[in-house]
Amino acid sequence: MTESVDCIVVGAGAVGLAIARRLAMAGREVIVIEEADDIGTGTSSRNSEVIHAGIYYAKDSLKARTCVAGKHLLYEFCESHGVEHKRLGKLLVATADDEVAALEDTKEKAAANGVTDLAWVEADELAEMEPNLKAVRALFSPSTGIVDSHAYMLALQGDLEASGGMIAFLSPIVGGRVEDGGVTLETGGDAAMTVSARTLVNAAGLGAQAIARAIDGVPADSVPPLYYSKGTYFTLAGASPFRHLIYPVPVPGGLGTHSTLDLGGQTKFGPDVSWVDEPDYEVDPARAELFYTAIRRYWPGLPHGALQPGYVGIRPKLVGPDKAKYAADFMVQGPDAHGVDGLINLYGIESPGLTASLALADVVAEMAG
Ligand SMILES: Cc1cc2nc3c(=O)[nH]c(=O)nc-3n(C[C@H](O)[C@H](O)[C@H](O)COP(=O)(O)OP(=O)(O)OC[C@H]3O[C@@H](n4cnc5c(N)ncnc54)[C@H](O)[C@@H]3O)c2cc1C
Repeated sequence: MTESVDCIVVGAGAVGLAIARRLAMAGREVIVIEEADDIGTGTSSRNSEVIHAGIYYAKDSLKARTCVAGKHLLYEFCESHGVEHKRLGKLLVATADDEVAALEDTKEKAAANGVTDLAWVEADELAEMEPNLKAVRALFSPSTGIVDSHAYMLALQGDLEASGGMIAFLSPIVGGRVEDGGVTLETGGDAAMTVSARTLVNAAGLGAQAIARAIDGVPADSVPPLYYSKGTYFTLAGASPFRHLIYPVPVPGGLGTHSTLDLGGQTKFGPDVSWVDEPDYEVDPARAELFYTAIRRYWPGLPHGALQPGYVGIRPKLVGPDKAKYAADFMVQGPDAHGVDGLINLYGIESPGLTASLALADVVAEMAG
C-alpha cells in the first residue's frame, strides 16, 4: 500500500530540519525521512559550529544572501529557543605586511554583501585583545559567533513536531518515480515503505545526488557532479590561547588553518582540505605536522605535542580539485531546472549551510508555494 503525504523532506540535518519546520509551521503536512537513527548524524555534526558573518561569498550569490539573512535568523532563533550560542567575534589576521592587501579585499567583499561592521584592529590593540597572537593587522568581525549545533537541531525538531510534523528514522531512500501530481519514494530498512508526496524536498547532503539519480523520471543531466572534500580538525590539549575565532589570511600552498572554539571552551584547528573518492571519516595523524607549521605562523607558542586528532567533516562539492578555487554556489533546484513538478533538490550545501539553514528554508518554502 502506498501512503500519501503532502510534503516529504529527505534528510534530518540542520538544513532538512529547518525546511521541514518551516513547511510544517506554514500548515503543511510534513514527514522527514532519514536513513540514520537520529537527527544530525551527517555533516551537521561534523563542522566548525561557526555562525558565519557572510564575508567571503560572491556578491548576490545564494551563499552570500542566505548566510547574511540566515545569521540574523539564527541568532534570533537561538535567543527565542534557549539554544546556547555566543557572539565571540572573529579576527581575520595578517601575519605579515604583504598579507594586508588580502584583508582590504575581504573588507570590500564583505561590504558588497551588506556586512559593514568589519573594523580594523592595529598591532598594539591586537596585543591586548589576544596576547598570544602574532599579527601585524587584523579585521574584527563582531557578528561572527558559535552555536551548539545539536541543541539547534533539537529545537528545530521540537518546533516541527509541535506543528504536527514527524521524522521517520532508519528509512533510507532506495528508489522512486515521478508520477502525475508528485513523486513516489521507496524506502529500505526494516520498515520498508512506499510513500508519495505532492512536494518532495531532497535535503540529503552528501546523499542528494544519489537520491535524485534513484528517482525514475528525474533527468540525469539535471543532477550535478559531486566531489568529496575532506576537512580534518585537530584539537588542542589544554586551555585556549585565544578568546576570539582566529582566521589567518590563506597563504599560497598553506592551509589557512582556523582556530575556533566550541561552547565548552575546547579549541580546535581546521578544517584543512584533501580530496577523497568516498566519504572517509578517519583522521590521519600524520597531517598534524602541517597543522603545527600553519598554526605557528600566528601562534608561535604552540607547544609540540599539544595537537590531538579531532574529527573529520566532508564538504559536498559541486566542483572538483582542478576548479576548486571557483567556489560553486549552493544549488536549490526546482521544476524550472529539472521539469519535475513538486521536486526541490538541494545540492552542494557546504559551508555556510548551518548558518544559512533558516534562510534556505525560506527559499525552499517560497518555491514550494
Ligand atoms: C568541515 C566542515 C566545516 C563546516 N563548518 C561550518 C561552519 O562553521 N558554519 C556553517 O554555517 N557551516 C559549516 N559547514 C557546513 C554545514 O555543516 C553544512 O552545510 C550543513 O550541516 C548541511 O546540512 P544538511 O542538512 O544539508 O546535510 P547533513 O547534515 O549531511 O544531513 C543530510 C542527512 O541526509 C541523510 N541522508 C543521506 N542520504 C539519505 C538517504 N538515501 N535516505 C535517507 N536519508 C539520507 C543523512 O543521513 C543526513 O542525516 C561545514 C561543513 C564542513 C564539511
